Amino acid sequence: MIQETLTQEKTWQGTAVSSGVAHAVVHVLKDDFDEPDAEPISPEEVEAELARWQKAMDATHQEIEELKEMVSTEKRSAEADIFDTHLLILEDVSIRKHVEKTVREKLICVDAVYYRLMCKHMDALRGLADTYLRERFLDIKDITHRVMRHLRGELLQHPMFDDPVIIVAHDLTPSDTVQLDRSKVLGFAIETGSGNSHAAIIARSLGLPAVVRLHGLADELHSGDPVLLDGDEGVLILNPTPATLSKYRSREQLAEQREDALQETRHQPSITTDGFTVQVCANAEFVEEMRDIRDSGAAYVGLFRTEFLHLENPDGSEDWLAENYTRSVKAMAPGQVIFRTLDIGGDKVDPQMEEEAEPNPFLGWRGIRVSLGKRDLFKRQLRALLRAASHGPIGIMFPMVSGVEEVREAKAVLEECANELSAEGYPAPDQVEIGAMIEIPSAALTADLIAAEVDFLSLGTNDLIQYTLAVDRLNERVANLYQPTHPAVLRLIALTVEAARRAGIRVCICGEMAADVEMTPLLIGLGLDELSVSAGQVARVKYAVRKLNAEECRSIVEACRHLACPLEILEMSRAMAGELYPDLFE
Ligand code: PEP
Ligand code: MG
Repeated sequence: MIQETLTQEKTWQGTAVSSGVAHAVVHVLKDDFDEPDAEPISPEEVEAELARWQKAMDATHQEIEELKEMVSTEKRSAEADIFDTHLLILEDVSIRKHVEKTVREKLICVDAVYYRLMCKHMDALRGLADTYLRERFLDIKDITHRVMRHLRGELLQHPMFDDPVIIVAHDLTPSDTVQLDRSKVLGFAIETGSGNSHAAIIARSLGLPAVVRLHGLADELHSGDPVLLDGDEGVLILNPTPATLSKYRSREQLAEQREDALQETRHQPSITTDGFTVQVCANAEFVEEMRDIRDSGAAYVGLFRTEFLHLENPDGSEDWLAENYTRSVKAMAPGQVIFRTLDIGGDKVDPQMEEEAEPNPFLGWRGIRVSLGKRDLFKRQLRALLRAASHGPIGIMFPMVSGVEEVREAKAVLEECANELSAEGYPAPDQVEIGAMIEIPSAALTADLIAAEVDFLSLGTNDLIQYTLAVDRLNERVANLYQPTHPAVLRLIALTVEAARRAGIRVCICGEMAADVEMTPLLIGLGLDELSVSAGQVARVKYAVRKLNAEECRSIVEACRHLACPLEILEMSRAMAGELYPDLFE
């Protein structure tokens, strides 16, 4: 059965969120554990393998008996009945016989044999209309998970791969991502999400293809299946035929030639045809990205999302943080690194910190609110940043501020840290700029007050759009309403730019909108000084800037002032982009 499906090509269509093509085997990350690979075993290992399985089955049996006992003493007889059903499934003779026979004949590890057999049973029940039978699907799933856990002894916290893989998952949270061995990951194929989810942002940062909204994928694919992932067309192809591979190879060659030509221009300055400089900087999530960023043509690091380092090691000491920040600073010096203080919360959940699940995490305890509420954690980070600052120029910016008072309070904590460090004999850093992110409408509306307190403003449009339009950036059901060119969003950007101008400070966009070259005319017309994008996009955005005329860009912003329709506004910008740099859209 498995052999048969291996030979058939099958295509899934999703939404492309990060460009590129990858060809490799998949690694399926399941809800709570990874699907086992079909590791071969030798005939001499068969008995030990079956004994290992028997031990896992016995442990599962005992676990279920204990659960049954517990609910029986609590007089929850309906639940006790469920555990009886689970025991029947566990002890099913035909399953046992089949597993034993397959391990002996096919010489494959028992984890993969048992798991795949149980998946077949689940597949048979999944689509049935009968509620009773559908419930049996969940029973089998539950049993399978229990047995698999016992087989492994313990859950793998950090999946490691011997060979390169494409990650397949229902959903990929930032904490999942930090646990992956990123040196072996070639792409992401995800069932849910959007272009603004952090998995998509990370894929772009790492220059890996990613496709989201591939519904039903994780249940149909098995770890080890060969696939081709196309992050340009949003397609995943299982068992690609030689003809498909050859078609992709020619396409890739053409794309590589174009990219090489573009990359040759990456160190040229980003100045419009009428002499207006728009700095193009890079966003980073991991220390290891600094080398690529240095080589990308980026002016400096416009946004370092420090929460990923935190999620890798939530208990990391001040020394550990200072060491990692210093490595980043040294790698970029004399270019500046703008570190954003922790933006934990929303979808970037630190499981250790989650005291209580929040009904609306994006409107809850997130960003600067967490830092101001957890002073020890905040001070540990600020002290580490100030220590790193003696190795090169840095910026420190505060995320998710809703008004100027939070900025003042955060600055006061920063000053306290600076005084402590100086009393302890640390060298005084002299090149620390302070910034605030503008990503909540209240912050944009009071940007003049905030601008008076800081050296720069940075528009986090990923959040600004979701909070202005009340459209969850991760929810695909309302994805069509997530409109960066909505007049409300553009007016808030214009207000922020105006506030920065009056205060004589610079203003940047570090949200994903900055990387969309269809919108570069609008952003230059709105008066942005800087655009911060993933390293792979820097050359592209710089190229677009060099083709544009700031005066003409201002005139399209003026012409859009009375337009109500986001698409019409986008079309105006797109038309200018298409005329002046059509080659970027080929
Ligand atoms: C943003 O909101 O635009 C931003 C840059 O921050 P993040 O995507 O990490 O929320
Ligand atoms: Mg944000």
